[in-house]
Amino acid sequence: MKEERIRILYLDDEANNLNAFRASFRRDYEIYTALTVSEARHVLQEHAVHVVIADQRMPGMTGVEFLDSIKDEYSAPVRILLTGYTDFEALVNAINKGQIFRYIKKPWDEIELKNAIGNAHELYMARKELREKMEELEKTNSELNRFIYSISHDLRSPLMSVLGIVNLARMEHALVDANGYFDMIETSITRLDGFIQKMIEYYKNSRLESEWEEIDFQALIRETVETFGHQDPQMIFDVEVNQDTVFAGDAFRITVVLNNLISNAVKYRKPQEAQPRVKITANVYPGYASLVIEDNGIGILSDHLDHIFDMFFRTRNNNQPGTGIGLYIVKEALSHIGGNIAVSSVYGEGAKFELTIPNHSAA
Ligand code: ADP
Repeated sequence: MKEERIRILYLDDEANNLNAFRASFRRDYEIYTALTVSEARHVLQEHAVHVVIADQRMPGMTGVEFLDSIKDEYSAPVRILLTGYTDFEALVNAINKGQIFRYIKKPWDEIELKNAIGNAHELYMARKELREKMEELEKTNSELNRFIYSISHDLRSPLMSVLGIVNLARMEHALVDANGYFDMIETSITRLDGFIQKMIEYYKNSRLESEWEEIDFQALIRETVETFGHQDPQMIFDVEVNQDTVFAGDAFRITVVLNNLISNAVKYRKPQEAQPRVKITANVYPGYASLVIEDNGIGILSDHLDHIFDMFFRTRNNNQPGTGIGLYIVKEALSHIGGNIAVSSVYGEGAKFELTIPNHSAA
């Protein structure tokens, strides 16, 4: 591809200067000149110039004022000021306020001016590339948002319909299901839906900004227990919450953490355990909350303890359906809000997860 020539607008009320500039640089650049501010504006309207050079001393409007006046409307061209030593104060102001990229002393030195134009053009191209990348990123982001929205609605709702129909057929004894096909369908659909929900949690965790709100741990834990308790009516939940101070935190991420840990405690109970139990303790202090979730389930092999927070890590010591992403999301969500988690377990006796979450309450 043929390289584009650098397009320059030079504004100066002295025709001699404009002519000298043309004579020196016409082979190197595509040059537009203007004797007045209105001519210069006209050029800007008509041509996508890369660099604007303005003389400081002009009747009516100074070069800095002109460059400042076009800054918002024509933000892409890089601005250079031509000036004598006497305008030092104006120069300092112009540079500090970002009105100009560089200034060149008059009379100009050809090499210095050429270098300045070259640098200005590089800056122009870098900004352009950045703008294009940003636009691309915004487009990808919005596509991703639509995709996730579609996953959460368009994929989940038919799944829920199938589940409803299976339950209807079961209730109405519409078919004899001696082989337990309905149960198999239900298990598969629940598994798939669980995976979709985890994907949505993962996505939201990685993208949503944290928002602090007041958290009542008693209520939050009760809700989670109600959500997962029905999976095993035998399950005993011992909940102890000591909160007499205000806690402010990211309710979405804390809920995600609790949901994953409590659902795991239920999921990885021992099949033969007469009293499957989860103990959930929360102590809230002015600086942080400490939570412990301890179960008497199947436990975790010591070799696996270092890996359970890895993405897609699943142990094969049980037949439970899983995605291996739950604890990864837990760890990511906690790191997002400055919390941490530790696990300990005696294989065959249970697992214990201990976490701390910073309190953002000003109280
Ligand atoms: P998933 O449960 O979907 O497989 P997780 O990331 O939540 O994925 O857990 C990773 C692995 O850690 C699980 O496969 C399981 O073997 C083990 N695990 C997690 N929580 C417990 C627990 N409370 N008791 C025993 N094993 C657990």
